[in-house]
Amino acid sequence: MTQRLKLGCIADDFTGATDLANTLVRGGMRALQTIGVPAAAPLAQADAIVVALKSRTVPADDAIEQSLHALRWLREQGAQQIYFKICSTFDSTPQGNIGPVAEALMDALDSDFAIVTPAFPDNARTVFMGHLFVGDLLLSESGMRDHPLTPMRDANLIRVLQAQCRHTVGLIDQRSVAHGVVAIGERIAALRTQGIALAIADAVSNDDLMRLGAAAKGMRLVVGGSGLAIGLPQNWDLIAADAATHLPAVDGAEAIVCGSCSQATQRQVRRFIDDGGAALAIDPVRIGAGEDAVTSALAWAQLQLPHGPVLVYSSASADTVAAIQAALGIARAGALVEQALAAIARGLVERGVRRLVVAGGETSGACVQALGVEQMQIGAQIDTGVPWCHTTCEAAPDGLQLALKSGNFGGDEFFARAFATPA
Ligand code: ADP
Repeated sequence: MTQRLKLGCIADDFTGATDLANTLVRGGMRALQTIGVPAAAPLAQADAIVVALKSRTVPADDAIEQSLHALRWLREQGAQQIYFKICSTFDSTPQGNIGPVAEALMDALDSDFAIVTPAFPDNARTVFMGHLFVGDLLLSESGMRDHPLTPMRDANLIRVLQAQCRHTVGLIDQRSVAHGVVAIGERIAALRTQGIALAIADAVSNDDLMRLGAAAKGMRLVVGGSGLAIGLPQNWDLIAADAATHLPAVDGAEAIVCGSCSQATQRQVRRFIDDGGAALAIDPVRIGAGEDAVTSALAWAQLQLPHGPVLVYSSASADTVAAIQAALGIARAGALVEQALAAIARGLVERGVRRLVVAGGETSGACVQALGVEQMQIGAQIDTGVPWCHTTCEAAPDGLQLALKSGNFGGDEFFARAFATPA
């Protein structure tokens, strides 16, 4: 029997969406992640669906339109509660987009109160008296102070959010949160009588998030980083369970496509090669001069694939990358590498790869686009924040497992660990 979707999530960026989906799965929910609003119905039954948008830094009107589109689709799937997923450092400007999107969602949901908390103690983001801390620093004294797009120069989130909102913003203070669900409910009731529609919720521990989650039961909208997600599955009597991470099996070869030059990824590449893995480097300068690196990489891979996982990579040290960028230009170097690796990823899947690891955030975006992936079922975590996912696409109608890794994520043995991790 078809069950109604429990939680419908709208994430303002791609990696944040994966982070949230991963947290929900670990909390016992079967979760899907979609890339944008899909044209098709959900590919599998799920307790939660996370729609990944790119709305964090676009103009506020555009962010509202994208978010309302996602909301309509999620409501068509029967979503009982909506979760607007924001960055745990509250990335935004006085123009938005957290406030305007939250208010537009509240209007559409006919909701007159929502809690807002970016707290994520496991990731050293805590909120106390409405002030956001990154580790032991106030947000405004952390590196976020100088973010190129959303410099955060005020740690007082009540003030930050108020500047973006039509409605009045209040506080659910940590003392109320620490006292439990009843005290939180009383605080919310008091705020509502004062005409307050959005409240920053303090949370300095996972226990605080569990109490806030319980207090959010039945609320039409919650706004948070992925931390708040640890407290929601309990509202549907779900608990961390292996069943939520079980993905359909696949049958085929294994490969890694790697466009990240981060230090963590460089170490992972080195370890894979040192352990005797089959690896091929592509050279951006030769690609820029017209070499067909895609055809030659795929010909090489076809011979290697029957013997074990293959790695195709562009990763290089900072000095080498600087020299390549000087020769080609930063944007052109990046685009040439992304296009080549995305075409190689697709070619590998066409040649029978059914477990594919992609390293690099932008590289992952390019590969997912080249494969035409719109939806993914989220499975077991390989390393913190990187789960195996399952999808189907034109090149793999029988199913494909994908692991999309941000550059800095994962230990040195990540690639071997990925293939040793059952999805
Ligand atoms: P990360 O998650 O580590 O930031 P991304 O994939 O997001 O990785 O970004 C890496 C960027 O660097 C991509 O645009 C990629 O195309 C580019 N790139 C990868 N290898 C090279 C290289 N050898 N020279 C220049 N640019 C490169």
